[in-house]
Amino acid sequence: MRMPLIAGNWKLFKTIKQSVELVEELIKEVGGVYDREIVVCPVFTALFPVSKVIENSVIKLGAQDVYYMEEGAFTGEVAPLMLKDAGCRYVIIGHSERRTLFGETDALINKKAKAALEAGLIPIICVGESLSEKETGRTLDVVEHQTREAFKDILTSNIEKCVIAYEPIWAIGTGKSDSPQGAQETIASIRRVIATLVGEEVSSKVRILYGGSVKPENIDGYMKEKDIDGALVGGASLKPDSFGRIVKYE
Ligand code: PEP
Repeated sequence: MRMPLIAGNWKLFKTIKQSVELVEELIKEVGGVYDREIVVCPVFTALFPVSKVIENSVIKLGAQDVYYMEEGAFTGEVAPLMLKDAGCRYVIIGHSERRTLFGETDALINKKAKAALEAGLIPIICVGESLSEKETGRTLDVVEHQTREAFKDILTSNIEKCVIAYEPIWAIGTGKSDSPQGAQETIASIRRVIATLVGEEVSSKVRILYGGSVKPENIDGYMKEKDIDGALVGGASLKPDSFGRIVKYE
């Protein structure tokens, strides 16, 4: 049985005070929910303050990015153990905004995933196709390539800890979402790709999320699909009532 996971990506929003207020409200919304994991991913500066607020709650902490070196002359970067030190258990890696706006390559994403695992963080590795790739029928090829590259030279025992988020780029922040059936189809194919790398048993343990304009109105449909183990939520994670309703999907 895969534990469902709902993660909120707060992107570049909220000051420390606003982040603390948001998570305090969220604790009220989801306080009694134990049968699914709940993760929030604030900006770097709010990680530690938020970690203090969620200490005795059901909510866990994730970062939105990480660098792959432990320390050194890498101005502006944050190392995996520094995120752990700030209270993180998860880290988003290879979000499409990192890939497209900041030029992150599959090779860099692979290095980040390895470094995160080594530090004991769980990577949430994002894959997904652009609109033109979708329109030219290349979705499965694109996500297969991204998945294989992300997992290159990662031990099987570590792959089973990883989370994949399938996020079609055309659905992120656009209000357009993939259908539950469409997302299920792509996610099932990602699971088959993982099976070719590490076998069916391990592949059946890897959690694969859907992301792309998930809202209170559409979460229930995704969560009914067999291979969809949760959601990575952007915009709708910034409001405690909407994220709370997503977490409490039926
Ligand atoms: C995201 O940022 O990963 C995301 C899916 O955003 P949104 O839910 O706003 O589409």
